[in-house]
Amino acid sequence: MFTVPTPTVAIAGSADRFPVRRIFCVGQNYADHTREMGGDPDRQPPFFFSKPADAVVDTDAELPHPPQTHDLHHEVELVIALHSGGSDIAVADALRHVFGHGVGIDLTRRDLQAAAKAAGRPWDMAKGFDASAPVGPLTRGGPPAAAGIALTIDGEPRQSGNIDQMIWSVAEVIATLSGLVTLAPGDLVFTGTPAGVGPIRPGQEVRGTLDGAAPITVRFRP
Ligand code: MN
Repeated sequence: MFTVPTPTVAIAGSADRFPVRRIFCVGQNYADHTREMGGDPDRQPPFFFSKPADAVVDTDAELPHPPQTHDLHHEVELVIALHSGGSDIAVADALRHVFGHGVGIDLTRRDLQAAAKAAGRPWDMAKGFDASAPVGPLTRGGPPAAAGIALTIDGEPRQSGNIDQMIWSVAEVIATLSGLVTLAPGDLVFTGTPAGVGPIRPGQEVRGTLDGAAPITVRFRP
């Protein structure tokens, strides 16, 4: 009838590509970002939302400014890629399911998200739009316990943190998520963003970095 391509993410130092099954994202996993969004970092269990698999974008892409927003925001995040999965995974077993890690940008139509929150409606159109999940080339293996994570716009610092500041660790995120859905090979997990989220204007270049991983750079058309 017709074919549907499988979205993929680059693997650093390899011609192979990681096939993407689903994209899950953790909300408010750094205390300073939780506070800037008006939340309480001490009492929030991890919560999740998702993006379509074909929202992934390679580094060095040029993107149109997405429609229906006047407040497109950047959220730089550690991204975890799974080569296996299961349900009710124990925290102690979680990291063995990790294929690799990288840095991504959880692009967010913040104005649509604020309207959805106010109306008690879903976040899908605020978070899961076309090309909303740029991801840099994956580094094989799990992430280090600590690594600097940062984002610049046109070379100016906007976000800076360390993945050791995450409220819920990578293993805890995988374990908790596996209690909600059966995780599977090809799943990506965006693990939350540190403080400093803010707007991206047409024509700007956004670059996310994670120490020890390949960066993600995307340019928005004027
Ligand atoms: Mn996010």
